[in-house]
Amino acid sequence: MPELPEVETIARELAPRLTGRRIKKATLRKTDVLRRVSKPRLLKTLQGNTVAGVERRAKHAVIRLASGHRLVIQPRMTGSLIVHERPLDEDEARYAVLTCTLDDGRLFVYRDVRRLGTVWLLDDRGWSAYDARLGPEPLLAAFTAEAFRERLRGTRAAIKKAIMDQRRVVGVGNIYANEALFQARIDPSRSAATLATEEIVALHGAIRDVLNRAIAASGTTVRDYRTGTGESGSFQFELKVYDRAGEPCVRCGTRLATTHAIDGRQTTFCYNCQN
Ligand SMILES: [Zn+2]
Repeated sequence: MPELPEVETIARELAPRLTGRRIKKATLRKTDVLRRVSKPRLLKTLQGNTVAGVERRAKHAVIRLASGHRLVIQPRMTGSLIVHERPLDEDEARYAVLTCTLDDGRLFVYRDVRRLGTVWLLDDRGWSAYDARLGPEPLLAAFTAEAFRERLRGTRAAIKKAIMDQRRVVGVGNIYANEALFQARIDPSRSAATLATEEIVALHGAIRDVLNRAIAASGTTVRDYRTGTGESGSFQFELKVYDRAGEPCVRCGTRLATTHAIDGRQTTFCYNCQN
């Protein structure tokens, strides 16, 4: 599932390919991905519009249009956003949900096999409201360890759940929560309220470090995730705990344990290093 590093990779690759391009034609094959916009209004807004920029917010790709609208896409489990230099082959066409033909002949495609992702079209006011519901960006300078501590205040939830709560900090999903907690040597099941200041500082640093390293590796491909040019990421080769249940801990050699008891998702950790 694309988390911050994957969507950041997509946005960085789409930006130079889409910015300044006019959308000549837009087609939508399925409407179940749409949120707060009808098919006719979406297509009418896109057609003839020009892309002013591409950014990321949380786990969403945000395509700013010259009209002031924002096309906000969250790819989720099986979605991807790819610019194609050539016509789509049969498989690509089958799963293309939204296709925009650009004025340079390239195709910008939102592909989603199971259509678990969402597409929003928001004006300035709609975007402000949407943005306000999301927590702080973990890689911005304003997100200090002190700001992180403030965001964790008042919750007794397991620390793993707390850092995956998008109102506390955005962009961290199951992969990077597992990795950051291992790096900071913190038991994922511990109540957030029990963390000492130095543990919060260590976790803050680990979250930023893991996300930055994953961006440098173009994200993690364990299943469907592809970059904005259709390639796989490579951070899966650097994972220390996620998807490594039963393997030895890279730090101490203890067999890594797995539980689903924290949040229903797979949590892999080292009993010896994380307590
Ligand atoms: Zn260990």
